[in-house]
Amino acid sequence: MNFRRLPALALVLLLCALPRTGQATLPVAVAEAPALWLGAVRALPLILASLSPGPSRAVGWPAFGRLENGVLARSTTGLFIRSRQAWGTAETVAGLRGIAQEIATLYPGRGDLIVTDISRMDGGHLNPHRTHQNGRDVDVLLYALGDLPRARDLKDLDVERTWAFLMALRRDGMADLVLADMGIQQKLYTYAKKSLELPQAELEALFQYPRGRKIKGTFLQHAKGHRTHMHIRFASPQAVAASALEDARRGVERVAHIVVGRKETLATVAAQYGTTPESIVSENRLGPRTQLRRGQRLFVLKPLPQAQVNAGHPPEDAQGG
Ligand SMILES: [Zn+2]
Repeated sequence: MNFRRLPALALVLLLCALPRTGQATLPVAVAEAPALWLGAVRALPLILASLSPGPSRAVGWPAFGRLENGVLARSTTGLFIRSRQAWGTAETVAGLRGIAQEIATLYPGRGDLIVTDISRMDGGHLNPHRTHQNGRDVDVLLYALGDLPRARDLKDLDVERTWAFLMALRRDGMADLVLADMGIQQKLYTYAKKSLELPQAELEALFQYPRGRKIKGTFLQHAKGHRTHMHIRFASPQAVAASALEDARRGVERVAHIVVGRKETLATVAAQYGTTPESIVSENRLGPRTQLRRGQRLFVLKPLPQAQVNAGHPPEDAQGG
């Protein structure tokens, strides 16, 4: 029994019991306060999620995915969560918390790490992002020098603290990738080279800067629109494996199918992968009479040959901002 969840459980039970006993037993002021009930109903998904059992699952890909059993990130020492779309895998949220606290201890009295978006409670598309779909992508504002809460301009960037933060993320492979504008990279690169005297090979593994083209595998990569924030892709290996294992347990391999033409229907897509239209409808939470449209992306659960069942197939990763 998890006692921290008892208050939430009590509220859920109370709400369930209301239609039968509410009018008779609750004080009039409480029973007739619509705002209170509206608030309770709105909070219900959060309460239910806090009770949700099982490990987090990062389903699919960052640019086409879903989050199951996600955890809501909350503000704490050194961490300020600015968005309501702050659901991540358990590893993402725990990692973020741990690192923000570590940096706050190293640099006391400075501004918090400000998190804008992570994912929606169930993941999926989150405006205006292309990724952020399976609880592994986190947008953070830039640590600033002095008393500023955030660096809106490169001259205010707290390079030393940002460097410490990035190295903590890289340690133990917590993050795969950080998207940051070339301007941010240039300041960090200069600091690493001149002040820390990092060897050239290490600089090259860390930075896309000063090379213009994208270098696959570098930790810091340039992406448009990342001048005043950075985008972190957490590795979250347990949540990725949990999703792949769940697919393997069901004897399927998850494929992302893009609808190309009008001739494609649920039946033709299903036939192409040896599955059923019902499986596609249920996996994509579509209506029974959904007409596919061009460019629509679908999860298809392709049956595995019997020998491969239980082997597990971690999905490939997509990038993006
Ligand atoms: Zn982002």
